[in-house]
Amino acid sequence: MADEPTIWISGRLVEKIRAHGAETYPHECCGALLGRDSGVVAGSDPNKDALNAEREILELLPLVNRRDDSPHNRFSVTADDVRAAEKAAREHGLDVVGWYHSHPDHPARPSQYDRDHAWPWYSYIIVSVQKGAPQDMTSWRLTDNREGFSPEGIEIRHRAAV
Ligand SMILES: [Zn+2]
Repeated sequence: MADEPTIWISGRLVEKIRAHGAETYPHECCGALLGRDSGVVAGSDPNKDALNAEREILELLPLVNRRDDSPHNRFSVTADDVRAAEKAAREHGLDVVGWYHSHPDHPARPSQYDRDHAWPWYSYIIVSVQKGAPQDMTSWRLTDNREGFSPEGIEIRHRAAV
């Protein structure tokens, strides 16, 4: 699993995602991940560097789950949300690099719905919230053929974000 992509996130943001999931329980929370992909390591194979690119999450934009039909197991990101997230990212000099949401009383694994609604390239962080208490957190990226998700490692950075 040496080529498993890794995302870096500060402990402060991990706590914010977990708190958001607890706050909206038993409904799903959702939000945008703002950050950047880190630079290429000099001198090595450029294709390999792309595989090993690290992604840093430096800010969050909590969003309102607009699904009122089934908010306990669905979330939706609207075009307005994407615009708001991109605007917030620009203000921080960052990009929208992914989305997070919670799974109330379900494991932190993507559902079929998640797969059907995911976009390529973005990281998808999922936090499991069991009986109101946040548990596991995982991150996923759609495979190139869009048929599934592959896991990403999450590295928690304990120093302050840049
Ligand atoms: Zn989900």
